[in-house]
Amino acid sequence: MNSVRVVVLSDNCANARAARGEHGLSYFIETGGHRALFDVGQGLVLAENARALGLDLGAVEAIALSHGHYDHTGGLPIALAAARGSVAVYLHPDALQPKYNGTRAVGMPPAAREALAGPNVRLVSSREPGEVAPGLFRTGEIPRPHPEEALAETFHRDPASQIVDPLLDDQSMYFDTPAGVVVLLGCAHAGVIHILEHVQTLANGRPIRAVLGGMHLGKATDARLQWVIQHMRKFDPRLLVPMHCTGPRAAAALWAAFPNACRPGGAGAVFDF
Ligand SMILES: [Zn+2]
Ligand SMILES: [Zn+2]
Repeated sequence: MNSVRVVVLSDNCANARAARGEHGLSYFIETGGHRALFDVGQGLVLAENARALGLDLGAVEAIALSHGHYDHTGGLPIALAAARGSVAVYLHPDALQPKYNGTRAVGMPPAAREALAGPNVRLVSSREPGEVAPGLFRTGEIPRPHPEEALAETFHRDPASQIVDPLLDDQSMYFDTPAGVVVLLGCAHAGVIHILEHVQTLANGRPIRAVLGGMHLGKATDARLQWVIQHMRKFDPRLLVPMHCTGPRAAAALWAAFPNACRPGGAGAVFDF
């Protein structure tokens, strides 16, 4: 098993000198000789943060997208223009659907769609789990058996709010380590517990060692927060990094419930596994 380094390249806040925040999320992942991105943020800070953190975007061989929202896909033109070689881009087919929050378009920006058609891109559109780089996996579509984790808010595919978007595109990434599985979340629109359960199934029951990323609990009721915390206890991760869209109240509840596991995220945060 290779050691894996995960650097937060974009997050809502910054956690390193010269790194900048944006409403977005992106991870730079180094494993063996390979470089991959999981999400690319909005694109407002991607190139600047990579430069400030000494990360070579040109070496990126693969990009996986958690879902089609602009704050995870807007940096595609920058990441793909920076790449020196061809780049495999992995997404769920629904990531390309139009997406709205009320009348506001929140899907993949037109420039990102154009960048995906570029000559250096190998687009892999799939609902299935699979390998992105050696030992680094995407979950594919997440089964959602628990009504307690129904979508916390309703997104649509049209500006008139007629067609509900269930965000089936939401997927996460994971890799195994001797101490258990590390899970990288996008926005966890599918529900963080749903995601952890599915990762554990895909990883043949291995323990969950770490959970990083957005948990989209900003509008969660107290009952839902308690349900998530109660189920998170069963996984008992030794590292928990609530970022991006987790929401301050949910992050505070997680920090209170898991004081020894929680660590700050933020652009520039580095995690070695
Ligand atoms: Zn989202
Ligand atoms: Zn998001």
